[in-house]
Amino acid sequence: MGLLVLKFGGTSVATIPAIENVANKVAAEIKNGHKVAVVVSAMAGVTNQLVAYCSEISQIFDQREYDAVVASGEQVTSGLLALALQKRGIPARSWMGWQVPITTDKVHGKARIQAIDSKTLKESVMSGDVAVIAGFQGITTDGRITTLGRGGSDTSAVAVAAALKADRCDIYTDVQGVYTADPRIVSHSRKIDKISYEEMLEMASVGAKVLQTRSVELAMKERVPVQVLSSFESAAGSDLPGTLVVDEDNIVEQEVVSGITHSRDEAKVTLRHLPDVPGVAAKVFSPLADAAINVDMIVQNLSPDHKNTDLTFTVPRADLPKTLEVLKAVSKELPGMRIESSADVAKISIIGIGMRSHVGVAQKMFRTLAEKGINIQVITTSEIKVSVLIPEAYTELAVRSLHTAYGLDDGS
Ligand code: ADP
Ligand code: ASP
Ligand code: MG
Repeated sequence: MGLLVLKFGGTSVATIPAIENVANKVAAEIKNGHKVAVVVSAMAGVTNQLVAYCSEISQIFDQREYDAVVASGEQVTSGLLALALQKRGIPARSWMGWQVPITTDKVHGKARIQAIDSKTLKESVMSGDVAVIAGFQGITTDGRITTLGRGGSDTSAVAVAAALKADRCDIYTDVQGVYTADPRIVSHSRKIDKISYEEMLEMASVGAKVLQTRSVELAMKERVPVQVLSSFESAAGSDLPGTLVVDEDNIVEQEVVSGITHSRDEAKVTLRHLPDVPGVAAKVFSPLADAAINVDMIVQNLSPDHKNTDLTFTVPRADLPKTLEVLKAVSKELPGMRIESSADVAKISIIGIGMRSHVGVAQKMFRTLAEKGINIQVITTSEIKVSVLIPEAYTELAVRSLHTAYGLDDGS
């Protein structure tokens, strides 16, 4: 007997029959004797539609109103699931972010959770009611609705699990766990039974969208045991059929490379003809940081004459219009600077704790891509990850070739 937080993603609540299926899963855990809080996403496709409505009005919109619009999808599913549970004789109540309350900072569109006042919520759950919490949303201290960035319901779930001191946070989705590569691209990818927080964090941050990066960050910090599993399989979460995200010490066999990820959410910006003097990078990146734009890969070319230089970096594709606006303002201070941009790129990464102790891992990546004639535009590395930026058209070929090269194919 324990306290579980169960999170159901968009495809798991896409239709009324799917919501009934979710209600059955919740009922099964209650029958097992657990207290349950549920976090739900919007029905599949709904958030995309809501985002599209905002963009249809303007490419650059007031993020506060964007949040008011896109947070609405989760309100619908939490109410519907509460109804489906009540139909089964299970006392259930929906909770919006503001009702908990889940307080966030004021960075609309990608707000961070600052606090969860879990007292009333916990009392309700411990009294035997199922709390059905709308994921993805929170409220600022001045009472405006915020959203936590795409995929943010994962973070809502982990944050609620941490606040309630839950025994486990089960993330139900449309695949059976975390795989060595996106199973939609690599059909012979393998389910990973246990993965360390650190590897999962790197995998999420470079594109394995099965978990939002912040949810892993939070799980690692608060030591929340997380399981990723399918809502379309018959086994209940308590049988642990999915992937467990755990401390590194709990993993006996380490692969050199545990996973390959890809991200098409990138856009590349190149600034040409920048003066090669101290302070230029700060001039470019400070206003981008102020606009809450996450700059990822960065390369600066050496200038042979020490006068001018080129700077290339990537930003989230959705932030490209805002980035170009900010840079236009910056260019007034840097006369002669030319701005080029392309959304036609993908980032491919290899991740593995074993990289710390093995040499030649990156070389194998470069050789494999070269053999396929794939040109690398930018490279970045960390202790347990290598990422490259390539033309988007080669995404599948790159991921599949690397999956094979590192011996990850199922049956290999
Ligand atoms: P949900 O709507 O349940 O939150 P998401 O679409 O956000 O689901 O995340 C699940 C998807 O993540 C899967 O359908 C899969 O295509 C994708 N994915 C990408 N990389 C991986 C990976 N390494 N392992 C599992 N799933 C992955
Ligand atoms: N509905 C939101 C999205 O599609 C949040 C989530 O599903 O996690 O991004
Ligand atoms: Mg998701």
